[in-house]
Amino acid sequence: MIIDHLKLKSFAQTIFERLGTEPDKALETAAHLVEANLKGHDSHGVGMIPNYVGSALRGGLKVNENASVLKDHGAVLLTDGGFGLGQVVGRQATDLGIEKAKQLGLACVGARNNYHLGRIGTYAEHCVAAGMVSIHFVNVVGHPPFVSLWGSREKRLQTNPFCCGVPTESAPLILDMATSAIALGKVRVANMKGEPVPEGALFDAAGRPTQDANAIAEGGSLGPFGGHKGSGLALMCELLGGALAGEWTMQDLDKQQEMTVNHMLMLILDPDVFGGAAGFAREVAGMQAYARSAAPAEGFDQVQLPGDPERASRAHRLTQGIPIDEQSWGAICSAAEKAGLSRSEIEAFEA
Ligand code: NAD
Repeated sequence: MIIDHLKLKSFAQTIFERLGTEPDKALETAAHLVEANLKGHDSHGVGMIPNYVGSALRGGLKVNENASVLKDHGAVLLTDGGFGLGQVVGRQATDLGIEKAKQLGLACVGARNNYHLGRIGTYAEHCVAAGMVSIHFVNVVGHPPFVSLWGSREKRLQTNPFCCGVPTESAPLILDMATSAIALGKVRVANMKGEPVPEGALFDAAGRPTQDANAIAEGGSLGPFGGHKGSGLALMCELLGGALAGEWTMQDLDKQQEMTVNHMLMLILDPDVFGGAAGFAREVAGMQAYARSAAPAEGFDQVQLPGDPERASRAHRLTQGIPIDEQSWGAICSAAEKAGLSRSEIEAFEA
């Protein structure tokens, strides 16, 4: 089905409200998820609702938590999300970091114990909108690992995202990526659609490459992106996001349950305290133009920069609607029922 973004947001907001979420938090979470769909990342959009509803009903996700400050020391801030909705507590931690960076020129924020933060680019976009450069190292814990390190057939990590945002005069540069070959949610989406995953992304239980999206359910693993280099960056996300900010990494077997928890280390930098915001903006704009001026390679229409595919998807889906496959929609509707919506209410949204 194809659904309008406003209708989808309203449906998602209603589901969160029926779970007992305060209206502003329900709206913020729904808007974040639908924005991920608009930007083409269905893996981190409304398809996560069944996961969130299940966790909230089991008591793992605390829908009305706010981020609290555990430590405020110079440029360093440590916040605890209390397993609240990541979209809310993660944004609150980012706001606190931006305020500090405005005063001091930079902030290093350890944001721990957030329930799933969703699309990490959201927090970079928030920093960029305030004129800041930001760097995000994130680990993913609370359930068993799915990602293997380079050269291993056993799983030790999750999809540990890395993100970096740079403000520009026009289109912000947002590099936002899982350090696995593809995001786990994209395997879920491929599985739901019955489609193969790209070559080189998945390994079966014996460590052999496969394109079967069901391989994970049968003991296989997701590989790292970029061979040994991506594997190393994934480990650094585990250590900087998990060990430094979160004090909790994947090795903690007792905590491998049915939660999706993100710890995030954020560096927020004001370009003005370096060579000056104007000079930086000039250099970035020049470099963007220089990069885009490169002739495309065979098979490519143009050179794209980080953030371009998301902008193109957003422009398209704002007018054409958001496609959702039947299985994912069925799972969302079933989660809506569990959250307390009646069949007729759900059918009214579907109409
Ligand atoms: P992706 O591979 O689609 O894109 C990664 C980056 O590459 C983006 O910055 C994108 O703008 C850029 N890009 C894509 N195609 C390009 C091209 N042709 N030319 C130039 N640049 C291009 O992203 P992904 O790795 O699948 O991650 C998807 C989302 O999943 C991200 O938003 C990430 O934050 C999120 N994620 C979240 C978690 C979590 O636990 N919260 C875990 C993993 C991933």
